[in-house]
Amino acid sequence: MTYESLQSRPIDAKAGVVETRRDLLTGEALGVVAVGGAAEAARAVDRAHTAFMRGLPADVRSQILSRAASLLEESADELATLIRREVGKPATAAATEVARAVTTTRYAAEEARRLPGERVPLEATAAGAGVLAVTVPEPRGVVAAITPFNFPVNLVMHKVAPALAAGCPVVLKPSEKAPLTSLRIAELLAEAGLPEGWLEVVHGHPEPIVDAWCDDDRVAVLTFTGSAKVGWSLKARSPRKIHILELGSTSAMYVSRDADLDLARRDAVQAGFAYAGQACISLQRLYVDDVIADEFLALLAPDVSGVRAGDPAAPEVVVGPLITDAAAERVSTWIGEARDRGATILAGGDREGPLVSPTLVLGAQADDKLMCEEVFGPVISAARVSGVDEAIERINDSRFGLNTSIYTRDLAASLRFAEQVRSGTVLVNMPPSFRADHMPYGGIGDSGQGREGVRYTIAEMVDMKLVLLNPG
Ligand code: NAD
Repeated sequence: MTYESLQSRPIDAKAGVVETRRDLLTGEALGVVAVGGAAEAARAVDRAHTAFMRGLPADVRSQILSRAASLLEESADELATLIRREVGKPATAAATEVARAVTTTRYAAEEARRLPGERVPLEATAAGAGVLAVTVPEPRGVVAAITPFNFPVNLVMHKVAPALAAGCPVVLKPSEKAPLTSLRIAELLAEAGLPEGWLEVVHGHPEPIVDAWCDDDRVAVLTFTGSAKVGWSLKARSPRKIHILELGSTSAMYVSRDADLDLARRDAVQAGFAYAGQACISLQRLYVDDVIADEFLALLAPDVSGVRAGDPAAPEVVVGPLITDAAAERVSTWIGEARDRGATILAGGDREGPLVSPTLVLGAQADDKLMCEEVFGPVISAARVSGVDEAIERINDSRFGLNTSIYTRDLAASLRFAEQVRSGTVLVNMPPSFRADHMPYGGIGDSGQGREGVRYTIAEMVDMKLVLLNPG
């Protein structure tokens, strides 16, 4: 498969600077992508803004999204293979991601036909008697979308599809580690009938492109998914824009003494190791009630050792390579630091190039990086706690708060946990890695602000114009 045809896209016109994209593991060339900079970023906004001024009826937007969902579905194998090869995501997980992106796009096609708006009961004040008041959703304008490497199809669609549903054209800078799928998505949307200017993809070194968009007043919304450091810096650089920031976390799970331990074990393994822990809601901190800790961890350790690691092309492999050798080296260093400060490695702990073996650590200190920084690798750090109150305290001792789980059969304990844990989402007897694409999703603290989940993303991308109608 080659992507040479994409070089001729107008956005890539500058000086013909191109980059060869390669398979993460084998180094085999996958295609060639044109590289853009500030000038291409500005031209992308020119085209997107022109499209915005022209507008596109909701009915047409819905039909285009619906066709795009079908085209994504037809291209599922091709896209999943690209994900696997470009970012090393195991084949099964890559296929799941594409299927979710189809769903995300279908939801957006539906939502385009029912944008939010309400009748405001103005008659509640004497001055408003007899006045009809309605809010009318208006697209805010051009949306700049900046996306991470780890879900290069579904997280792109989580921005592009709701924006198009809302009537906002998109300028997209995909992760420089995963541009090929975005270019393919742009092709499929064009094939679905999306007119010029509604989706402009610019690939290249992030700063010049994103800086140009931060400085451009025609960009109304900046939606970013990625690390906390970059996300908050972009908000500081563009204070007048609307921001959706979907950032990192150190997701936690608490297993109480009355939990279904088989369920908790199974979910911990799934949440900790899918795609080698390279998800914002991967399980990182595992707090286990002291009473059952020995039993639970003795069963969990062999489960962790049994997680298949290796070539992402093999269907049973869960843990493939990390995105770079440097990422694997960092994770391995953090494991070593925790061990040097007294933690025990119950499973794994090895590294070979970009592959870190599925790892379970017990007894890392609260200020070890394994506990307080986002690991983004296949490592679960377990700690014993005396009960739900200590679990809540330890979980809240974090600057992040995205998805947090409790496993218990005690309704009162789960309600207390749900009330007191600082987190965007609390899950009871469900893994922290759970996300359905239409649920409101996002974090607090350093995990971000604003919400995604098609309808909720659309709500961030439209302005509510109030219309007051006095029949006279
Ligand atoms: P990253 O922050 O390195 O990159 C994300 C995007 O920002 C990329 O497109 C990148 O090119 C761009 N970028 C990087 N530096 C920039 C700069 N100085 N100026 C402008 N743009 C810049 O993140 P990543 O490594 O691609 O992804 C991993 C991170 O994403 C993790 O922290 C993870 O938790 C987070 N994430 C969050 C969610 C969520 O929904 N909350 C989902 C997936 C990933």
